[in-house]
Amino acid sequence: MSEARRTVGFVGLGRMGAPMAANLAKAGHRVRGFDLVPELVAAATGAGVEAADSAADAAQDADAVITMLPEGRHVLGLYRDRALPAAARPGTLFIDCSTIDVADSRAVHEAATRAGMRGVDAPVSGGVVGAEGGTLTFMAGGGETDFAEAEPLLAAMGKKVVHCGGPGAGQAAKICNNMILGVSMIAVSEAFVLGERLGLTHQALYDVASTASGQCWALSANCPVPGPVPTSPANRDYRPGFAGALMAKDLGLALGAVEAHGVDAELGRRAAARYAAFAEEGGAGEDFSAIVRTIRARSAGGPGAEGEQA
Ligand code: NAD
Repeated sequence: MSEARRTVGFVGLGRMGAPMAANLAKAGHRVRGFDLVPELVAAATGAGVEAADSAADAAQDADAVITMLPEGRHVLGLYRDRALPAAARPGTLFIDCSTIDVADSRAVHEAATRAGMRGVDAPVSGGVVGAEGGTLTFMAGGGETDFAEAEPLLAAMGKKVVHCGGPGAGQAAKICNNMILGVSMIAVSEAFVLGERLGLTHQALYDVASTASGQCWALSANCPVPGPVPTSPANRDYRPGFAGALMAKDLGLALGAVEAHGVDAELGRRAAARYAAFAEEGGAGEDFSAIVRTIRARSAGGPGAEGEQA
């Protein structure tokens, strides 16, 4: 894979995969895409992606195969009976960009290696907006040589690519980061609801905390109340953004790892439980910052009490 233009099989043309595949094509690579939903394959062809008839077809003659699927079971499913690797040339680079369990990711690496292929896990941060704009951050796990081959492809779809370590290290970094994000969004939301009860305006709390020690991404980029950060989802009735269902999923993956490794992650556990309930109770399709409404509703006096600001 030394030449710049590569043939890439792309499996999973959903909300993230479709714009990522389109950006690869735009960068000059030959991209052959497949999704179980034929309409998504048809839509991708309008963005320079060639239609493949199956995942195996997408892998044929590919230098690299990228998967962008919902969960670990979907990725592992492609390796069942060696179906996907059997269709590819020996030594093909398999890059999984889905967010999946660290243990599943390591199982995918093993399955790829056993089949004579090479693997890199490269989950992303940046959401649909980042996928569309080619500004994703990739967190990659795998061997040095394999990472070096994956990097130019990832760079065509993102603005930052970090090699985090060996197999599964990208997934590990992703769930650790999102555990910070889930906990910090709850902390910021609790502080805004407390501020409301104390008669503080949202703007005053934002002006102080965003330039003081409370500063964090959940506050300064994704502020959970409308007003202080005009681009935050709170200003568009919490349309995502980063959906509650995805935060619940990622915290569930983090919780699994916390339990498997016996980590005393009290806040991570609580955040996982809060977001699981939030997603179940109607927040799945809202931006995860809408958790502030749950906190407000569960607080004494409920919504609208004592100083909630529109
Ligand atoms: P999505 O549900 O929109 O897309 C997944 C696609 O995979 C679907 O179109 C589905 O038909 C397809 N698919 C499932 N099994 C398949 C198979 N065997 N063969 C071919 N296609 C198959 O999901 P998404 O939002 O694009 O997310 C993809 C991954 O990226 C997930 O792991 C998610 O956690 C992660 N992620 C998503 C976001 C986001 O903002 N949406 C952000 C970061 C990470």
